[in-house]
Amino acid sequence: MDKRSVAEAKRRLASRGHRLTKQRQAILEVLRSSDVHPDADWVYREVRKVLPHVSLGTVYRSLEVLRDAGLIASLEVGPRRRYDGNTSEHQHILCISCGRVADIHLPPSLLEELEQRAASEADFTITGHRVEFYGLCPQCLQKSKAESTE
Ligand code: ZN
Ligand code: MN
Repeated sequence: MDKRSVAEAKRRLASRGHRLTKQRQAILEVLRSSDVHPDADWVYREVRKVLPHVSLGTVYRSLEVLRDAGLIASLEVGPRRRYDGNTSEHQHILCISCGRVADIHLPPSLLEELEQRAASEADFTITGHRVEFYGLCPQCLQKSKAESTE
């Protein structure tokens, strides 16, 4: 992480009464340099490569602290909570076969239109939305095709 990102992480954590410990910084670095949208166990295995004595409990708690500070995002796709080092607005697609999660970038105007339609149909004031996709990734689609022709 560059100096700017470290300073930003420190500032955001400090505003919630937390410090940027070396464990938290290592977790941030792991998540920001990956786009696999991993679960806590995967993050734990990666962080242990740089900090061999880190505990799984510390990783779990740190992920929540980082998420609450807005430094990472958590994803409610599939059975396990997953994390994303990319906090900019985007959507996700989940492979129902292998669990892989990929990024989708829908135009904000399209999302606004959906919100407006939902608001007028239900007569609600919309405060948020969740758009998720699922299907088969290219590799799993190939595999299922190969199996069906066997
Ligand atoms: Zn797949
Ligand atoms: Mn993502």
